Amino acid sequence: MAAPAFRRRLIAAAMLIALPFVTWYVWVCLRFFDGAFVAPWSASSTVDAGRLVPTLTAVSIYAGWWLLQISLHVMLPARVCDGPAASAGCALRYRLNGLLSFLATAVIVVVIARSGVLTPGVLCDEFGPLLVTANLAAFALAAWAHWRGRLRAAAARRGLLEDYLYGLELNPRVGGVDLKFFCESRPSLLFLVVVNASLAARQYELHGSVTTPMLLVNAFQLLYVADFFVHEGALLTTWDIKHERFGWMLCWGCLVWVPFMFSLQAQYLVTHTHDLPPLAVAGISALNFAGYTIFRSANLQKHRFRCDPSRAVSGRPPDYIRTAAGPLLLTSGWWGRARHANYLGDLLMGLAWCLPAGFRHPLPYFYIVYFVVLLVHRERRDHALCLQKYGSDWEDYCRKVPWRIVPGLY
Ligand code: NDP
Repeated sequence: MAAPAFRRRLIAAAMLIALPFVTWYVWVCLRFFDGAFVAPWSASSTVDAGRLVPTLTAVSIYAGWWLLQISLHVMLPARVCDGPAASAGCALRYRLNGLLSFLATAVIVVVIARSGVLTPGVLCDEFGPLLVTANLAAFALAAWAHWRGRLRAAAARRGLLEDYLYGLELNPRVGGVDLKFFCESRPSLLFLVVVNASLAARQYELHGSVTTPMLLVNAFQLLYVADFFVHEGALLTTWDIKHERFGWMLCWGCLVWVPFMFSLQAQYLVTHTHDLPPLAVAGISALNFAGYTIFRSANLQKHRFRCDPSRAVSGRPPDYIRTAAGPLLLTSGWWGRARHANYLGDLLMGLAWCLPAGFRHPLPYFYIVYFVVLLVHRERRDHALCLQKYGSDWEDYCRKVPWRIVPGLY
């Protein structure tokens, strides 16, 4: 028994050290080595350590961003919606005003850029200090969540390191703000859009134009984020909201990984100004659109089915399995083709985000490699959880829908 616990703690410690290092390493390769992989020791000796200290500008921008987003979330009109049942049994209520916050943020950012208070490329200039600032914020927020969880959560403890990493409380709330729900979008996806725009602005300042690959990456990710806010309510039936505790993993993933690693391709493209033939533009756009269509329709089918099981799926009455545990399992539409076709859609989009970078360096493809690993692992975690929850009903579902992510293949 001692060995697996020791191994788990070792993995937890490795993740806490390795993941922030990876974000730093990728930034160094992009900023100082033209996007080429370099030996980590030569990267650290070449890069001036001073650049890794949060600057006053970076801290002010980051704190200002949080203040702005919390104010918009709390003050703008919102549709109030019931979420999944909390541990106490009653459904938590969520304020859905992400789209309005998204639009208000766009106006505010344009006003700030045009007023000259901050230059449009400032997030590109301050990328390193911002990365360190966001890391510190994520570690601090996770520490606070851990301390709060120790006082309140009844979760079974797994040891300090693992509790810190995976969290204790499912839905910590402060002053009516659900931290997990907030972090999933405002300091993560929404910040990503602004970082991308700033990187495009820096490319324009340097080269006098914004290239087609940069436009494609910005447009694809903007579509993904805008779509997220249009369907904000669908987040309430996802794995993260229902099952993932608010620990370092989720916190750091939202605050650091999403804005600083998903912008990998745009970072690369700032100084790589190649163009793409029209056929490649059409092919990559079609791939992104196909991925988006699968991703969105699969997620919506499940969300709508869970809200109203009588609603038609793909124009026909839904097929489903009635489970002893209570919830129904949809077996038609995308959920009848693969048990996580929504992941397939996400993966196709992820590939389309990488392709505009071309094939000169492998680094921009880091995203799709990581994403395949993440979603394959996540599907297995979800499978184990559902098997535990639904038992033989889940086995029935697996027999009926044998494919995990890619119909006919995997
Ligand atoms: P899902 O939205 O697929 O949710 C999984 C849960 O849905 C299960 O735990 C189960 O919960 C329920 N469920 C499973 N099968 C069925 C069924 N047949 N009918 C009804 N309910 C079912 O998982 P995720 O939260 O992982 O993914 C949501 C989206 O977010 C995906 O599109 C994914 O690709 C994306 N994503 C993106 C990431 C990124 O980094 N860009 C990272 C992770 C996810 P229960 O039965 O308990 O309600």
